[in-house]
Amino acid sequence: MVKSETILNWIEENKERFIKMANDIWEFAEIRFEEVKSAKLQMKVLEEEGFEVSKGLADMPTAFIGTYGKEGPVIALLGEYDALAGLSQKPNTCEKEPIIPNGHGHGCGHNLLGVGSLLAAISVKRYLEKNNLEGTIRYYGCPGEEGGSGKTYMVRDGLFTDVDIALCWHPFSTNFIFNLASLSNIQAYFRFKGISAHAAAGPQFGRSALDAVELMNVGANYLREHIDSDARLHYAITNTGGNAPNVVQADAEVLYLVRAPTNQHTKEIYERVIKVAQGAAMMTETEVEVILDKATSNLIPNNIIGSVLFDKFIEVGPPQFTEEEISFGEDIQASFATNERSEVSMFANFKNILGKEMFDKIKNDVLFEDILPNKIPEIVLPGSTDVGDVSWVVPTSQIGVTCVALGTPGHSWQEVTQVTTSAGHKGMIVAAKVLALTALEFIEKSELIEEAKNELVNRLDSNNYECPIPAEVKPSVPKWVFNEF
Ligand SMILES: [Zn+2]
Repeated sequence: MVKSETILNWIEENKERFIKMANDIWEFAEIRFEEVKSAKLQMKVLEEEGFEVSKGLADMPTAFIGTYGKEGPVIALLGEYDALAGLSQKPNTCEKEPIIPNGHGHGCGHNLLGVGSLLAAISVKRYLEKNNLEGTIRYYGCPGEEGGSGKTYMVRDGLFTDVDIALCWHPFSTNFIFNLASLSNIQAYFRFKGISAHAAAGPQFGRSALDAVELMNVGANYLREHIDSDARLHYAITNTGGNAPNVVQADAEVLYLVRAPTNQHTKEIYERVIKVAQGAAMMTETEVEVILDKATSNLIPNNIIGSVLFDKFIEVGPPQFTEEEISFGEDIQASFATNERSEVSMFANFKNILGKEMFDKIKNDVLFEDILPNKIPEIVLPGSTDVGDVSWVVPTSQIGVTCVALGTPGHSWQEVTQVTTSAGHKGMIVAAKVLALTALEFIEKSELIEEAKNELVNRLDSNNYECPIPAEVKPSVPKWVFNEF
């Protein structure tokens, strides 16, 4: 029987060191595949703690794995540590104020996510070592979750083949078992090539790549009506072909992100988007090149792991906040552009399951201090994560832990400023405790692993994992990053 107290006490006594780490990674604020300092810091700590560290995995210098133990079940704790572009923001303020204009910021709280999982891994390792127990604990340093699909490449490279259970968490505005499906996606560049010409003196000689991008977007917007209502289609024009209206634009590029509830469905819509692009190229007599950038699979939930996580969450207890932390949360809430809380629409259909009291808290509270019941039916969250790819090959589940005020928009400056406060740190410590106890539960009870694996087999229903990123596509790591290691 795992002595929970030993683990919980160890985490409590050693938390300051890890809070500092989360703050350091917050300050590094490195975006996808550029997490040089963040990865080095975590690898150093793992090595100091006696983990065997393998580095530069799956063509990504900032991907690594720390392993302790040789025998017994293999439990993976997933970590992320990438920031988002354009979200630089000063800490502890309720005003939008970047540290560096257009700089990067931790708008998804991954500074907490990675360190929380790392702390859980280290506490489990210490417990196994001290008690001379069989079992293998691994921390997976997964780069580029934001628009990079780091885990998808790691799965494609077979780095999860011998893993029995994978666990993760995400900073959130409520405490709940994040055992919900997410959308699969494919992101691709559509690069059009035309012929440059003087737009007034010889327009008949020109073939406009920008026209092609515009026509493609018009076509895609018509297509939108004829795709599943759960599917999503977004685009950003990444090259307009220049600033001169008197030049026919010879080059233009648009980046598309297609999402749908299953890989197959996403692929079908993606193929239709390619046809739209080809149509636009035909209309404008330009050429189009399609460059697949990244893709992730839909997440397969696992109720066996979800219920262990829930029991351990109840045992650890949700984070509790001080008046000062709540007052800061109120000021943050006052800065939101809308009073509509995304959590309210997310859980609106489950009012009866949550109970009026709990639902009112989601509607009215500042910092959420309860744990939502583990009875929420499986909905598909309108977002994507590369945890999805892991969940196809290993039974996987995760929790959401309160780190920010209710209503905080994801990927916002308000998120950046909150994930380096004491409230955010409290959420991270709770997450580490729940993950550590859950990992040990699976190490101790191998029958639970079998049950979780059976559940995955049943859910896959004979569908095999097929990596949504073709073999020839490599992670989009900038060249300079390779020289840093
Ligand atoms: Zn995130």
